Amino acid sequence: MVDTDPRRSIPRTDHLLALPEVIAAGESRSQATIKAIISEAQSAARAGDIPVAEVAPTVIRNVTTRSASSLTPVLNATGIIVHTNLGRAPLSAAAKQAVAEASGYVDVEMDLQTGKRSKRGTGAKQALLRACPRAEDALVVNNGAAALLLAVTALRGDNVLADNPASEIIISRGELIEIGAGFRLPDLMATTGSRLREVGMTNRTHLDDYAQAITGQTASLLKVHTSNFRVEGFTSSVEIAQLRELADEHGLPLIADLGSGLFEPVPALPDEPDIASALAAGADVVIVSGDKLLGGPQAGLILGRSDAVQRIAKHPLARAMRTDKLTLAAIEATVANTENPVQEALHIDVDRLQERTERFAELASGVVVAHDGRVGGGGAPGVPLPGWAVELPEYFAAELRKGDPAIVARVHQGRCLIDLRCVPEVEDQRIVDAIARIRGADLVDIEPGDDSRLLDRLKHHLGDGDEDSSEQ
Ligand SMILES: *Cc1c(COP(=O)(O)O)cnc(C)c1O
Repeated sequence: MVDTDPRRSIPRTDHLLALPEVIAAGESRSQATIKAIISEAQSAARAGDIPVAEVAPTVIRNVTTRSASSLTPVLNATGIIVHTNLGRAPLSAAAKQAVAEASGYVDVEMDLQTGKRSKRGTGAKQALLRACPRAEDALVVNNGAAALLLAVTALRGDNVLADNPASEIIISRGELIEIGAGFRLPDLMATTGSRLREVGMTNRTHLDDYAQAITGQTASLLKVHTSNFRVEGFTSSVEIAQLRELADEHGLPLIADLGSGLFEPVPALPDEPDIASALAAGADVVIVSGDKLLGGPQAGLILGRSDAVQRIAKHPLARAMRTDKLTLAAIEATVANTENPVQEALHIDVDRLQERTERFAELASGVVVAHDGRVGGGGAPGVPLPGWAVELPEYFAAELRKGDPAIVARVHQGRCLIDLRCVPEVEDQRIVDAIARIRGADLVDIEPGDDSRLLDRLKHHLGDGDEDSSEQ
């Protein structure tokens, strides 16, 4: 009997290892990684998932183009700008270049003139102070949550006895937020040994509520921007300027956690606080995230009065929250060059977006619908960013997500919505092509009698898409 099973002719490992492209890839990939890619393609052929003839091309494609980490680059077609599940802010060209340049040896802590340890402070700090002249000093740590913990811990009174941690932090009940993934501010604060003294009501807090709560135990006043929700109706809260007066009366530090990282007010986002205004109103230090509206890498920025920032910088915990050279490089480049994808998506020309969406819809045989983008990522909750999307049947969303390139569209009310706001325009055609491939596969892919494929496709048509819940 002749064995006709084509799986017998799957290319052998030594044959694949000898392909010129695979040898070339050995310069940047380890042999273990390359062998894993080979074995994966062989297994796929053995399982009948790819034809035997596709093994070598698949191996070549994967060793040359697959990213060196397991993170898959994604085109964000959701219209949500700071998408937490997609890594928040995409970096600007300047920040990417800065990261690449900082990835080798760099003079991050050396003065090249003297060869000694540098005392000038980081370029990131200098850039922050130029961007925000009101700040006397600045410090970069790993993220906003770290910055907050560090600030409240370092700014506790010096007179606190070790066995009597008299460190109550006064905060409005309306500002006790959960910042995402189940992390709650009060729990975070509890880890510092501080106690939160909650004042006021969920919807209304008055200056007098703060004043009544101040005792010898009080360590600081904390104002937290309710970045991911909005309380509407019968509400009132106390402004930073009012809290400043109270803080001065009692000699207390005033910390303002702003969240999203605007240097100046943005008219389109009237409820988003900005660093300059918060400092002008009298906050001793403000805290923001580097990867929200600032449009940079994950980081926590602390800006404010030099005595307060210095105290924070010298606290032992600061060492545990220290950023690396890559973050410092990306923050500096982001702050010094205000153009970045987050700002572009926020301030997109809506007429231009409409034209682009119409052309896209024509190529992709979809329907143009009005669609609001969102800031997302715990910023400007409920503020719509008017725009457009292309509507397709819901099952497209799952196919697009699993494709190459991976495209994440919005699934909403049984439809797949493609919002181009956060998609670089040069990528439009790749999305059109992906849609065409899905359409083509729809019609021709299923061999007569291939019931499992047919069932699978039917399942898609009936919709297995889950409503996206990833805005925060
Ligand atoms: C997002 C946010 C944080 C947490 O910042 P990360 O950079 O995500 O750690 C803290 N406070 C507020 C008000 C926020 O919006």
